[in-house]
Amino acid sequence: MNKITRRSLLAGAGAVVGAGAYRAWDQQTIPAGLPFPATDPVQATGTILNDASLLSPTPVARHLTFSEAPETKLLTALRSELTDAQSASRAFSASAARHSMGGQSLPREGTAVTFEQSTLTPDTQAGTYRVAAGVRWSQVIADLDKIGFSPKVMQSNNDFGVASTFAVNAHGWPVPHSAFGSTVRSLRLMRADGEVITCSRNENEDQFSLAMGGYGLNGVILDLDVEMVKNERLMPTFETVSGADFGPKFAGALASDPSISMAYGRLDVTIDGFFDEALMITYRTDENQADLPPASGSGWMSKVSRDIFRAQLGSDRAKRRRWFVETEVGPRLGSGGVTRNSLINEPVVTLDDGDPTRTDILHEYFVSPARFHEFIAACQDVIPSSFQELLNITLRYVATDTDSVLTYATEPRIAAVMLFSQEMSVRGEADMARMTQALIERTLEIGGTYYLPYRLHATDPQFQRAYSRAAEFAARKRAADPGLVFRNALWDRYMAKL
Ligand SMILES: Cc1cc2nc3c(=O)[nH]c(=O)nc-3n(C[C@H](O)[C@H](O)[C@H](O)COP(=O)(O)OP(=O)(O)OC[C@H]3O[C@@H](n4cnc5c(N)ncnc54)[C@H](O)[C@@H]3O)c2cc1C
Repeated sequence: MNKITRRSLLAGAGAVVGAGAYRAWDQQTIPAGLPFPATDPVQATGTILNDASLLSPTPVARHLTFSEAPETKLLTALRSELTDAQSASRAFSASAARHSMGGQSLPREGTAVTFEQSTLTPDTQAGTYRVAAGVRWSQVIADLDKIGFSPKVMQSNNDFGVASTFAVNAHGWPVPHSAFGSTVRSLRLMRADGEVITCSRNENEDQFSLAMGGYGLNGVILDLDVEMVKNERLMPTFETVSGADFGPKFAGALASDPSISMAYGRLDVTIDGFFDEALMITYRTDENQADLPPASGSGWMSKVSRDIFRAQLGSDRAKRRRWFVETEVGPRLGSGGVTRNSLINEPVVTLDDGDPTRTDILHEYFVSPARFHEFIAACQDVIPSSFQELLNITLRYVATDTDSVLTYATEPRIAAVMLFSQEMSVRGEADMARMTQALIERTLEIGGTYYLPYRLHATDPQFQRAYSRAAEFAARKRAADPGLVFRNALWDRYMAKL
């Protein structure tokens, strides 16, 4: 079997064209701006936690890490911490990998809990697994892989916690599903008073719909009952289409061919061809399902992959080269089979920049396939004229989410996930805020919305237009948590005032 994955072929082909050499040759040198956040951002004697943005240093009163199974000992410890936090009027927030980027996992001057657990019990008859909140997807994939199963929906990287994935209601390449929450049958939630309740679509439905995409604001998720599917070998197909046509082509392909089980797209990010061309990648079940290899990632190729990816910074020539690799070399080299589990088994660190003066910031917008061409035009207007470096954009499909109150998919949508490299400077932050607001505005004008786990740059009116049930969410959260113990930066920034 050909073990080359999409990611690894980008890497391997990149090696052929000598990415490292181009990196040195192409990059412009721009003097650094004033640092942001400032070196000593907060006057605090306690612990300062940050998230994946590196831009959210936040003082917390307590930080505890729990690795126990969600049984009596852990429940007792959590109740005690909740009581302490409430009696001291402190916020309390649960988290896993803290890859959210705007303090969504951080309780200012409060109690921060990190879950790092390992309990996972599959039920092959039911096609589900019971998993503790803080188990990372890398372990879920490894455990399910051994018994021939695979997560039904998850993100496209494996570092995140399972409860966090539910709390942001993340999505990924599996199609034609809605977000992860649609594959969760039930969960156990510890409420503000320490009571543990089971929530599902039939039991405590109100709390289930608040918790899904609810950023931990109505309780601590203890464990979840999640659907799985058979792992299988998939065969990719590649099609280059115009960026403006991508929405209907992508949605049409998925609607007309139920054998497609994974799919995504990419757009050209070169300045002279910005978003003009798209690549659509679809995966179907291979006829040969014998001897599935264990789940792997890009392995040794990841270092080379990082080099060609990072060479794009400040270099249109490197961006052109990367797009050539992606659209021309990749389809020729990467047409072999790959297992479903290998496709999603990639750590974030694969593309880490290792540059202390810059940080990777994600954006994500959701628009209907029929209006995707208008989104392309908006991006063409807004992004190239900013100070930001867009290194990658991946396109996905998300079906309607009928469960969560803070839903971002009130209809089937194309999700556009953008990775920017931002200078960690005052000017970089100000420019990013300006550009984000401009992109959100244009997206709202075409009936779309944006994703909440990233930087909190949206204005208050933009947040409320994007999440039309935000006031209802805040009212229901207050009813569930009258003392407002479950708080984080997302609550403080937008919902405390609702
Ligand atoms: C490189 C990168 C790639 C990404 N790719 C995707 C993608 O493909 N698709 C997608 O949809 N998203 C994607 N994301 C966003 C990602 O899914 C979210 O940021 C997710 O929350 C990260 O998981 P985490 O464990 O780091 O969460 P954390 O940042 O630790 O927590 C996120 C939220 O969940 C809450 N939470 C965590 N645990 C609990 C609990 N036990 N009980 C109650 N609340 C809890 C936290 O309070 C917080 O509000 C990506 C992010 C990055 C940085």
